[in-house]
Amino acid sequence: MIDYHLHLWEHPDKAVEFTIDTLAQYCQKAESLGIKQIAITEHFHRFKQSTDWLGNFWTKFDDADLYQSMEGYFDHHATYDIEDYLNVAIEAKNAGLPIVVGLEMDYFKDSMHFLNEKLRQYPFDVILGSVHWLKNWRFDDLYDKVSMKVWDSSDLENIWLNYCYHMEELSSSASCDVLAHPDLIKVNANLIKDSAVITEFNTRIAESANKYDLAAEVSSAGFRKPVNEQYPSIDLLSLFLKNDVPITTASDAHKISDIGFRFESIKTLIRDFNVHKLATFKNRKRQFVDV
Ligand SMILES: [Zn+2]
Ligand SMILES: [Zn+2]
Repeated sequence: MIDYHLHLWEHPDKAVEFTIDTLAQYCQKAESLGIKQIAITEHFHRFKQSTDWLGNFWTKFDDADLYQSMEGYFDHHATYDIEDYLNVAIEAKNAGLPIVVGLEMDYFKDSMHFLNEKLRQYPFDVILGSVHWLKNWRFDDLYDKVSMKVWDSSDLENIWLNYCYHMEELSSSASCDVLAHPDLIKVNANLIKDSAVITEFNTRIAESANKYDLAAEVSSAGFRKPVNEQYPSIDLLSLFLKNDVPITTASDAHKISDIGFRFESIKTLIRDFNVHKLATFKNRKRQFVDV
């Protein structure tokens, strides 16, 4: 197995210095679970380059409460230097630790081409693509009361299809290699019931992954959330595989103890689907390893 989605800092924490020893501990924990390779994939918005490059992008959208919430979020998160992050990770790689160096990138409307150009200047092995917000609405930020209130006041099907549209836009932007937690919109178990809408949602995401040659992760992170199941759902996973979309496995851990979280369930699931190879990445090029 591989764990291709790991963070260094928990969200409430400020980004603090980390060293090659931190990454050695990540590798040790992974190895103890039989995980052969890990990807360090910190959020792009953890780095001050996100606001240096994009400016106060949240000012483009007009809901005052969400606007302020997003401003506070970036103020808290966007503090570390992406070059310091890369230097430590590359040092660890050069020392022989079984890591690849990655980033988890959000979808920023109208800015992806610009961000691609910027990020291509850095030696990343893999970039995960994620949708965590729709305009300024951080729909998965369960601790943000302002964001959670939006769930009560909006039409569920519209929300799901809007998320789906953002995933298609992200896929077509050529900015990432793997779709992270592909149906994250189900995070707090606000599920839609209309099977035709669910089928449309799943089909569009799977087909766009295929069209733009992206892999998709099977993530255990959903077991730590109200939805209490892996991302993607069984139906979406099935469609990814029908569309020849390669798979990675991921815990989305934000601390060492969550590395490889619930990987027995994930392993059983992918074996049931006859997945025998997992996608890995080096210098943004895809390879495969045995499960
Ligand atoms: Zn994420
Ligand atoms: Zn993540």
